[in-house]
Amino acid sequence: MKTTVASLEGARTGHFIDGEFVAPNSREYALSYDPTTAQPWYEFAQGNAADVDAAVRSARAALKNPAWRRMTQTERGKLVRKLGELVLANADELAMIECRDNGKLLKEMRAQMRAIRDSYLYFGGMADKLQGDTIPVNKLDMLNFNLREPIGVVGMIIPWNSPLMMLTGTLAPCLAIGNTVVVKPSEHATASTLALAELAIEAGIPPGVFNVVTGDGANTGDALTRHPGIAKFVFTGSTFTGRKIAGNAAQNLAPCQMELGGKSPHVVFSDVEVERAVNGVVSGIFAAAGQTCVAGSRCFVERPVYDQFVEALVERTKRVRVGHPMHDDTDIGPLALAAQLAKVTDYVGSGIEEGAKVAAGGKRPDSPELAKGWYFEPTVMINATNQMRFMREEIFGPVVGVVPFDTEEELMSLANDTEYGLASGIWTRDIDRAMRFARDIEAGTVWINTYRSAAYMSSNGGTKHSGYGRRGGFEVMREFSKIKNVVLDYSGAMQDPFVIRLR
Ligand code: NAD
Repeated sequence: MKTTVASLEGARTGHFIDGEFVAPNSREYALSYDPTTAQPWYEFAQGNAADVDAAVRSARAALKNPAWRRMTQTERGKLVRKLGELVLANADELAMIECRDNGKLLKEMRAQMRAIRDSYLYFGGMADKLQGDTIPVNKLDMLNFNLREPIGVVGMIIPWNSPLMMLTGTLAPCLAIGNTVVVKPSEHATASTLALAELAIEAGIPPGVFNVVTGDGANTGDALTRHPGIAKFVFTGSTFTGRKIAGNAAQNLAPCQMELGGKSPHVVFSDVEVERAVNGVVSGIFAAAGQTCVAGSRCFVERPVYDQFVEALVERTKRVRVGHPMHDDTDIGPLALAAQLAKVTDYVGSGIEEGAKVAAGGKRPDSPELAKGWYFEPTVMINATNQMRFMREEIFGPVVGVVPFDTEEELMSLANDTEYGLASGIWTRDIDRAMRFARDIEAGTVWINTYRSAAYMSSNGGTKHSGYGRRGGFEVMREFSKIKNVVLDYSGAMQDPFVIRLR
């Protein structure tokens, strides 16, 4: 892997097409920033429609290349697993690249690289387990069966918050099935995807199977979603962008898998140990500085325990250590973008204007060492209502609003009163109540007495405006393969085509 933190510093990266780096058609580059200093640290190629077309052509050619198409599923699985092992061998460097690009904690990124390796092992192992089926039709001497085939070229557009993690959830199964891909990483965290594409070549995956076109959304991303050579899109990002992408893809009848935003409810009942629930709520909203799609940003607390809970939450929040993402004793790093900092500041201001009160945080940290970076203190807002703007729109930052409730009925109507439906969490010792919540909540994931514990073995995704399609588990192997139905008549009889036979 040639793409390292040292090689990137002050350098220009190209697109990765057909197994090699190529300069952008337009010769234009854009800057990538380090969120701890707000300074640029490398430049990435700004892709246009011609670059996208070259990448899609390469992926289409790779689809027909016997070196990929005629490989057995067992061999393909081995390559996918090899890619996973290379991720682990390069985990420190990949983690450091992501940390420099998006400001997430180095220790968290290192742990994530292990999970990413495991994900390649898991899906690589499935390559030769995806089976078609035989259909018992109402005819004798007929064999009717379904073959499972690759879909074709899959276009993937990913966000900046955990680029390789987000990518791997669909890249690993797509490769295991025999698809080829064109990925457009976020313009705010581009380099780790380029490094992964290099590792794919090192693993023995043929050139053209995994292409990367870099650039912004409005030009590069838009061109990709309009390209007629893409068979299916995977989009992970905001609901706003998801709508545009689904619109473009529909023109070419390309289906999409949409992993979009959230405004997830996190519920605390009074029968639970307060300290445990506080830890759950803190990790649910402040991990990764709140820049996770599943962030539990609306916290509903049963009234008898509300005051005690808020006091404990505020006390725990004030102990969260904001600092440099590469330091071991940091709990949360900076926000990834200047625009995120402005957005978070604006939402806190709007909450105050609408009558909410800041009980912890609510501003940039005072520490002079953090003054240059895009840091924001973990923030607890009380006196909030579910109607306030900061409680309805996705902030994607470390801000939680806390609202009391009296009855289960009231809770369910508050929790489901959102356009989103990504995740949800509940803390209670009452299993009947937990199961009623799981049954009635409009969300793709329900966590009971835990939060953010995701696994690549289980299918997850959103409902309502949080998207559609599932990633993880065996289900995803079906999502990225297609059925071909084959019918074979082995009666050997020459039948009169105009005689209708009834059985
Ligand atoms: P974003 O929608 O701004 O950008 C995501 C990607 O889309 C980027 O690569 C961007 O360049 C591209 N893009 C932007 N406009 C485009 C266009 N018109 N055409 C094609 N591509 C375009 O989102 P973001 O700010 O990068 O990420 C944060 C969002 O992602 C949040 O809403 C978060 O909830 C969501 N997210 C969802 C999941 C999930 O699994 N549901 C996971 C992570 C992030």
